[in-house]
Amino acid sequence: MTIPVLKQSPALAPQPADPLDHLADALFHRMGADGVYARTALYEAVVERLAALISRHRDDNTEVMRFPPVMSRAQLEKSGYLKSFPNLLGCVCGLHGSERDINDAVRRFDAGGDWTSSLSPADLVLSPAACYPVYPIAASRGPLPVGGLRFDVAADCFRREPSRHLDRLQSFRMREYVCIGTPDDVAAFRERWMDRAQGLARTLGLSFRVDHASDPFFGRVGQIKAVSQKQQALKFELLIPLRSEEQPTACMSFNYHREHFGTTWGITDANGEPAHTGCVAFGMDRLAVALFHTHGTDLARWPVQVREALELAQPAPMIG
Ligand code: AMP
Ligand code: ZN
Repeated sequence: MTIPVLKQSPALAPQPADPLDHLADALFHRMGADGVYARTALYEAVVERLAALISRHRDDNTEVMRFPPVMSRAQLEKSGYLKSFPNLLGCVCGLHGSERDINDAVRRFDAGGDWTSSLSPADLVLSPAACYPVYPIAASRGPLPVGGLRFDVAADCFRREPSRHLDRLQSFRMREYVCIGTPDDVAAFRERWMDRAQGLARTLGLSFRVDHASDPFFGRVGQIKAVSQKQQALKFELLIPLRSEEQPTACMSFNYHREHFGTTWGITDANGEPAHTGCVAFGMDRLAVALFHTHGTDLARWPVQVREALELAQPAPMIG
């Protein structure tokens, strides 16, 4: 008797291992959806130390704000997000109907049917980047002072880009420094931060390069936007070769929005011109994954210089 050779269906074929997979057990617990993870105490301790290190490098006269993971849908629409990244946006929905409508939806679900067809959008979206809410707040304060304004913001961000790779999450933390001022204010801010950020990466023992970059604009028109963004040098990224030199991971970005947000929100600089804005974004989860990938999962064996920079010898903050 011959035993038939069972061909494995593509769905059952084992996924090729990713170079970051070895970190999964020490850093994360799966939560049943790609790119959404519970974080271990070990991982979170490093994220907190990293956040503290970034805070120690904050410019003087910088106002600190922390945002929730959701923001006004109207504000994000007005910011032009749907023109650039409609495919990445997550929108909050709810059962907004009458008691009867809501009960019908639940009953449909109980009977094995679909309750989500009764959902309708709320006035909230999941924040896709930490800095969007700061511009309308700055606008409400009237004309900018000489020298402009600087903010330190952070939020849990959402982007609908499911992936099994530990450096491409749907839900991740973003920390940003933002400058709102004249073109010169913003240029000086971005240069200073591109320099300072590379110093930070060096101190943390990470190998990296900084390069021109473009955002993943949606669709065919988006490709033209991406070329123009590169030509105008509006975006740079700090890239860390986590899986390969050819496909490095962007762990920080340095962005110049020109007068986009100034015009959108009616922010004027001290000369009465539309304000220019720029931001430096730290991908907290990508930086933490990069640290563990580079130095391993045993903090005691991390290089002394890295441990000192992160103050790892001190008692652990909060989590214990
Ligand atoms: P961006 O606004 O695209 O420049 O994003 C700012 C930073 O957030 C990036 O440099 C990354 O470090 C981080 N980031 C962006 N998308 C993701 C993602 N899907 N998963 C984890 N981190 C991300
Ligand atoms: Zn930003």
